[in-house]
Amino acid sequence: MKRRTEERGAGTVLVLGIIGVVLVLTGGLAALGAALNGRGAAQSAADLGALAGATALRNGLDACGTTAVAVARNGAELTSCGVVGAGVVRVEVRREVTLPGQWSSRGAAHAVARAGPRAPDTLDELAGPLTAGRASGPGSVARGYRNGRIPDRALCELSFAAGQRLRCDAAGAFEHLNGAYRAAFGRDLAVRDSYRSYEEQVAVAASRGALAAPPGTSNHGWGQAVDLGGGIQYFGSAEHGWMAANARAYGWTHPAWAGTGGVKPEAWHWEYGTGG
Ligand SMILES: [Zn+2]
Repeated sequence: MKRRTEERGAGTVLVLGIIGVVLVLTGGLAALGAALNGRGAAQSAADLGALAGATALRNGLDACGTTAVAVARNGAELTSCGVVGAGVVRVEVRREVTLPGQWSSRGAAHAVARAGPRAPDTLDELAGPLTAGRASGPGSVARGYRNGRIPDRALCELSFAAGQRLRCDAAGAFEHLNGAYRAAFGRDLAVRDSYRSYEEQVAVAASRGALAAPPGTSNHGWGQAVDLGGGIQYFGSAEHGWMAANARAYGWTHPAWAGTGGVKPEAWHWEYGTGG
């Protein structure tokens, strides 16, 4: 009996040792993750700030004042801002980073960004005024309506997602896309959000701040954007990969700004009729 107790004791020590190693490793990974997140967050704040500033400049407003607000809303501090060319705004930001666990310490991540008239033209949700004319693009059956003001009769509810509505041509294409997706995965596309009225965009902007599209500019307001779940909301998932490979054939694309290298990565956001 004594021997078994000793063995059990030794086993407990070994288990405690392993737990200790795991804790040290995960603590290190958490610190690394926090540092990387801080860097990414700083860059996002800089990108969004520069875009906001360039948009303000184009509309005759205070570029750096607007930039400062956008940067602050994204948890960073504007350290430098200027107009460096025709319509181009350059910003520098700094964002506090707190590392957890035994690496507990504070630091700051810095990021630089610039934006202007030649910024990517797919940033609808961020830079509405730059691209607000897009709704009158080819095939738009919602032409003549304002963003977020499309009447019920011009919207079509998805057959497989109760309450989710899109511009009717976008809905028709999405139904076909869903058929192909169901054939591949055995289930329907999981639709989390689709058409957003102006009031709904105001609510989203209030809750997400500068990370949301300015009300009245989102492609959700044109009834030609969806936010998807079911695995598609994760970059690298089989479902996201399938969408990336197949959605374009149905007119649905994942805009560059929402990609892994974009200014606002959103794996879940897909649009109809805006892809090249
Ligand atoms: Zn979206």
